[in-house]
Amino acid sequence: MVPEVPARDLAPLVAELRAVVGDEWVYTHEHQLRTYESDGLLQYQAIPAAAVLPATSEQVQAVVRACARADVPFVARGAGSGLSGGALPIADGILIVTSRMKRVLELDLANQRVCVEPGVTNIAVSSAVAPDFFYPPDPSSQIVCSIGGNVAENSGGAHCFKYGFTTNYVCGLEVVLSDGELVVLGGRELDPPGYDLLGAFVGSEGTLGIATKVWLRVVPVPESVRTLVAFFDSTHAAGEAVSEIVQSGVVPGAIEMMDKVAIEASEQMAHAGYPVGRGAALLVELDGAEQECKTRFDQVVALCERCGSDDVRVARDETERQLFWKTRKAAFPAMGRISPNYFVQDGVIPRTKLPEVLEAIDALAAEYGMVVANVFHAGDGNLHPLVCFDGRNAGEAERAEELSGRILDACLEAGGSITGEHGVGVDKKKHMPKMFGEPDLDAFQRLRCAFDPAGLANPGKVMPTPRLCGEVPGVYRQHPLEAAGLAERF
Ligand SMILES: Cc1cc2nc3c(=O)[nH]c(=O)nc-3n(C[C@H](O)[C@H](O)[C@H](O)COP(=O)(O)OP(=O)(O)OC[C@H]3O[C@@H](n4cnc5c(N)ncnc54)[C@H](O)[C@@H]3O)c2cc1C
Repeated sequence: MVPEVPARDLAPLVAELRAVVGDEWVYTHEHQLRTYESDGLLQYQAIPAAAVLPATSEQVQAVVRACARADVPFVARGAGSGLSGGALPIADGILIVTSRMKRVLELDLANQRVCVEPGVTNIAVSSAVAPDFFYPPDPSSQIVCSIGGNVAENSGGAHCFKYGFTTNYVCGLEVVLSDGELVVLGGRELDPPGYDLLGAFVGSEGTLGIATKVWLRVVPVPESVRTLVAFFDSTHAAGEAVSEIVQSGVVPGAIEMMDKVAIEASEQMAHAGYPVGRGAALLVELDGAEQECKTRFDQVVALCERCGSDDVRVARDETERQLFWKTRKAAFPAMGRISPNYFVQDGVIPRTKLPEVLEAIDALAAEYGMVVANVFHAGDGNLHPLVCFDGRNAGEAERAEELSGRILDACLEAGGSITGEHGVGVDKKKHMPKMFGEPDLDAFQRLRCAFDPAGLANPGKVMPTPRLCGEVPGVYRQHPLEAAGLAERF
């Protein structure tokens, strides 16, 4: 029998949580909690005091209220597929897992709206509104990741180049704040009056509260979809093709690139008949009205050939199209076939800087004597370098992490960002000061404190050096409004 994790003085809180959700939905044994010790970024691990699986908004509210009364921090967790340590538990805190909250609550297709609980998977939203509608943001993890996690990370995907990110589809949220208050931000309609608190919540990585209902906009399935994969000798040539396509005025549904290493790994998993050894594969998908799609597609084929592709394969039917996508979406997990371990990096650069940043990544890989595979949303300039290493060799993981950080520096030098879609979490908070000055970080902190003054919602994530909410940087000077008793510091 594995011993139960020492309950500290949290026994009364755990008893309260059991009363709220039922004994069987509160885990406190170490062997149960190990399931939740990491998210998709395995190098960070922590064991919470308890993992709680509520079934309704009311239960989430009661659980959070109990945490607030006991002054115990909590972390929301969806499917745990995040890649920045966002759902990493707080040791001795409470992990609130939404995996039982999987109901589609309202379907209003006449108004292109669907309301779901946060534990519903991304793919299940499209399934719920099929065959006439779909939900465009499509992370490669879409068969497992939850809408709550997508909202918290403002997740993207292959089709975001044309369709936009999660934030462009969330019109309303029901949220449990860190004191247990239940609020609704936005609603069924777009752009309600007042400050954009909904916009602030999307992408806040669980630090502003827990989303318990999500109203989403869905869009009609396009009349026609055409997909090709073109092979090039180098990522440079494929990058030129991306620029040419975009500059020609074509707006593809998706433009995804894989380099030589990624092609090799994915082919081993998907068996799509991709030519191992080619420098780059460019997957381009166009959708829209039949005639326009056809004309534009012919244009894209010609542009790929002009930029040096001698092997353009057009999906002949839906089965082949799905195979092309399977090969692309298999790219991350497939790395396990060629390397015992790897770090997934997530940086953004202006699209026009693709060739020079890819060259910089090659140079860094050579300097460290390590293999880096590149898989990316080329249209958005959102890079996912995969740094391969063998964790059994002393010091290799540390060198891989250092190399990963230097790749981000290269993105910043090119005018980009430290994250495109995977979030800051615990992993990238150390990089935040490279991108934001103290005044920006203070502004973020004040926003956070407005939602979560006690600092109980996912503390220690996103912000590089968390401050207490009452703490104001610099020398304290009383504001005249404070002196007059009309305002106070939070
Ligand atoms: C193979 C693979 C491919 C991926 N591809 C993509 C991709 O193409 N695009 C992309 O954007 N991401 C991608 N990801 C990353 C990940 O799947 C996304 O970030 C996803 O949105 C995480 O959802 P989740 O349910 O797993 O969230 P979790 O990992 O459980 O949590 C992520 C964050 O959300 C918070 N959170 C979870 N639920 C809630 C809630 N209800 N309310 C408030 N906060 C909450 C957590 O506290 C945490 O900070 C990929 C991951 C993997 C493993």
